[in-house]
Amino acid sequence: MLKYMKMKKPVDLSKFTPLDRKTLYAKIVFWVFLIILSLEIIILSTIYYLFYNETTTALWEQAAVLVAIGCIISTVVTIAIIAVLHWYILLHIDSNHYRSEETHQVLLDLFRAMENDEMEMYYQPQIDLKTMEIIGMEALVRWIHPTRGIILPADFIPLAEQSGLIITLGQWTLEEACKQNKYWIDHGIDLKLAVNLSPLQFKSDIVHTVRDVLDQTQLPPDRLELEITETAFIHNIDDAIEVMHQLQQMGICVSMDDFGTGYSSLANLDRFPIQKLKIDKAFVHKISPYDEEPNLADSIIKMGHSLKLKILAEGVETEYQKNYFQALGCDEAQGYFFGEPMPANKFYKFIKKNTKQATKTK
Ligand code: C2E
Ligand code: CA
Repeated sequence: MLKYMKMKKPVDLSKFTPLDRKTLYAKIVFWVFLIILSLEIIILSTIYYLFYNETTTALWEQAAVLVAIGCIISTVVTIAIIAVLHWYILLHIDSNHYRSEETHQVLLDLFRAMENDEMEMYYQPQIDLKTMEIIGMEALVRWIHPTRGIILPADFIPLAEQSGLIITLGQWTLEEACKQNKYWIDHGIDLKLAVNLSPLQFKSDIVHTVRDVLDQTQLPPDRLELEITETAFIHNIDDAIEVMHQLQQMGICVSMDDFGTGYSSLANLDRFPIQKLKIDKAFVHKISPYDEEPNLADSIIKMGHSLKLKILAEGVETEYQKNYFQALGCDEAQGYFFGEPMPANKFYKFIKKNTKQATKTK
């Protein structure tokens, strides 16, 4: 079972659902409208009773009619204001509440999921483009929801990052993947394991965490690679460089993920103690026999190699893309063309089946 961070007990939102809120607003609007209408009827009746009889002078009569017209106009204006308010509340305020409540609910579900062991690590093969052998794997987390099925990281990692829950989740993914890789190494499958680190994880005491996990799982440090994105060090580059140095000194490989999507990549690249660049799949997907536009991937590979970095192309889906990167001298590749992310038992079978000659025939 996962240990989770101590957080303030969340408000029980189930007692106050968006539907209740809408009903409440509707009731308030209805009663305000009714009270105003009743007041105006009372005013009109009083005017009629007091002034509209045989003794009424023409002047009083005119005054009474004017007041009555005033009441009618104010009723119409009141109805219009209430209608606009009602529309605004339902459309704007309530939908914002609805969104935040939905977010809160996902967060509660995530806590519950971590307690109930609903998280599972999937593994995607990484290929050496020269030998066409499987040389590593990337660990990718999945949420196996009891009713919604498999939930992809895009639907919960950003929320876990915003809430701080990623520290606990990230520690679990690291432990789980390292434990799994150690098991495979002990059973004759010697691959390098790449684990994603979120920006928040990287800024927390990551060096200690990684050291503890390696001690605990007994995974050799050179069998671990940590993938970080530029957002992890955009605010404090010097501290980030220091952390990367410490990880490297431990024997861990540090790679830069989603390369090409950030801002300062090229300017600062030579300052970062990294060993690998992972070209973002956005560049890879553009490569097709029909695309004549010059692709940045070529320049990234040349520049990366000039800095003595290994280059991995992410999201390779077609043979054409594989051949393209092979021709450019790209070192490694990962993508659906070679294998999708899969659970540990399936990955084990995949590795057993796709030994040297199987991958070579691709
Ligand atoms: P990422 O690090 O860029 O991971 C690669 C993503 O591309 C994965 O999505 C993978 O399934 C997908 N992918 C791989 N090959 C192909 C392909 O050929 N075509 C296409 N279209 N996609 C491909 P996934 O598993 O949904 O993960 C999304 C992101 O969530 C990851 O992006 C990573 O940033 C984050 N993530 C996943 N697992 C973890 C984790 O354990 N910890 C942290 N901190 N982040 C994680
Ligand atoms: Ca990654």
